[in-house]
Amino acid sequence: MLSTGSNLPDSVSDKLPPKPEIGLPLWLLAELTYRCPLQCPYCSNPLDFAEQGKELSTEQWIKVFREAREMGAAQLGFSGGEPLVRQDLAELIAEARKLGFYTNLITSGIGLTEQKISDFKKAGLDHIQISFQASDEQVNNLLAGSKKPSRKNSKWPAR
Ligand code: SF4
Repeated sequence: MLSTGSNLPDSVSDKLPPKPEIGLPLWLLAELTYRCPLQCPYCSNPLDFAEQGKELSTEQWIKVFREAREMGAAQLGFSGGEPLVRQDLAELIAEARKLGFYTNLITSGIGLTEQKISDFKKAGLDHIQISFQASDEQVNNLLAGSKKPSRKNSKWPAR
């Protein structure tokens, strides 16, 4: 029998199915930068990002995308930090789409202008995921350490 690695009694763990084999990665989560305009207290990114060395260049990221695609990855998430601070984001999206990835932007929405949305759409972006810390604006701002755009003052359509 394969070990489940759990502390369950044998009578229980014997009935569990064996752990599936770990396959190749299907999703590449590209943390493009540590930079972020928010200051969430639970953030796991280093705050001294200026000391963390240079971020990967556009060409280096495209090389990573190509290698991940060759390994079988099908979906690419652009994350951070805040990925919108990368000036080459539309170029990275376009390259990822050329390689055949399903592309997903994971963002706080800060800095997301209509122009950028249009540029990303032209580049072939498939999906935007906007994160909120809370549905209540005050709690949201308290958690994020910054004022985020609310529906009241944004141009985003109401659902
Ligand atoms: S939005 Fe994300 S990256 Fe930015 S401070 Fe909050 S947890 Fe960290």
